Amino acid sequence: MGIDLKTFIFIDQHCHPLRKRQQQLDLLDFRKSFSESRSISQIEDHLPTSVFYMDMLNRLGDLFEVYGEKEVFAKRQTLPEKEYLNRLWDQVSIGGMIIDDGFVTSDSMTIDEMANISQRPAWRCLRIESLLEESISKAGSFDELMRIYRDRLGQGKTDNVVALKTIAGYRGGLDLRVVPEDTARKEFDSLKSKSAEANFRIGVGDTGNLYHYALLEAFEIAGASNLPVQMHTGIGDDDGDLRKTNPLALRDIFISERFAKTNFVLLHCYPYVSEAAYLCSIYPNVYMDLSLSISFASPYARYLLRQALSMAPTSKILAASDGHTVPEAHWYGALSWKRELSIALNSLISAGLIYEEQAHDIAAAILHDNARKLYNLEGLV
Ligand SMILES: [Zn+2]
Repeated sequence: MGIDLKTFIFIDQHCHPLRKRQQQLDLLDFRKSFSESRSISQIEDHLPTSVFYMDMLNRLGDLFEVYGEKEVFAKRQTLPEKEYLNRLWDQVSIGGMIIDDGFVTSDSMTIDEMANISQRPAWRCLRIESLLEESISKAGSFDELMRIYRDRLGQGKTDNVVALKTIAGYRGGLDLRVVPEDTARKEFDSLKSKSAEANFRIGVGDTGNLYHYALLEAFEIAGASNLPVQMHTGIGDDDGDLRKTNPLALRDIFISERFAKTNFVLLHCYPYVSEAAYLCSIYPNVYMDLSLSISFASPYARYLLRQALSMAPTSKILAASDGHTVPEAHWYGALSWKRELSIALNSLISAGLIYEEQAHDIAAAILHDNARKLYNLEGLV
């Protein structure tokens, strides 16, 4: 017996836009959506041998009764985009999504297009680094920069924004420093000239003084505007040096009075799931999700969830896919979450720790209720 979560609504609290014209993607593009690696040989020669990727293809094959990568890929290419996406997302009951559109190409769907094609609510997560880079390119001085930047952050929940997000983990690491304004000010001129270069990325190749100053400003404003801040920890981007993405480095932020009103959501966490769970058990303003860990480590996901459940209060755990580019990524995230969470919760029932009714409530909290409350999502029952 035990609980079955197939029909539970899944709110994808952290994901990215899809590519337009899905049928023009080739197999390599498709595979890239399931790897953080930028190495073509890694994706061509090794990704298909990963168990999670096999599982994803096998489950997709079940849906269309075709098996093997070539066959499954050929099938998805023949199906009308909208119908295909909705068939997948309906199967796993994706009820809405919070989308980080901080890194997009001209081929990416907008958030409105995502909502239209999927006919589900889509909210926006504003990436702090993209806003800061944009503000530097617009400003002529440090004071003007901070005015533009704070103005946008101060607008809070306009433009469908329900959360902020930082990728500091991949831009020098999570050891964030408190930087005096004067020190930050001195870096404006050099960052301004760099901002004219193609591929300018704050925090890459600079000392990070202005960056850290602005980040901490954003955290404070987020607290005043009631916007949770999502933070990448552990895996998530091959730019990241995993030695520097341990969420334990954030303790000073979590204990600071300055950020007492700011809620932080630790994303992915792998391999620091226990660390994140511990932080959630100590600090009232710390939450976690395991998004990409559940997809890319799906053979181990039930144990990762047990690790999260070992210490994190269940009101602090959120679900997400971190899917991007292809709808299969969001779909596989939701599918793995539900399957693995039901296994993890059923093991707790069998071990005599919780009753079935409690497991049911925990699942509802993790899969949708916690996100709805934390982000004040409108339009959801
Ligand atoms: Zn992401």
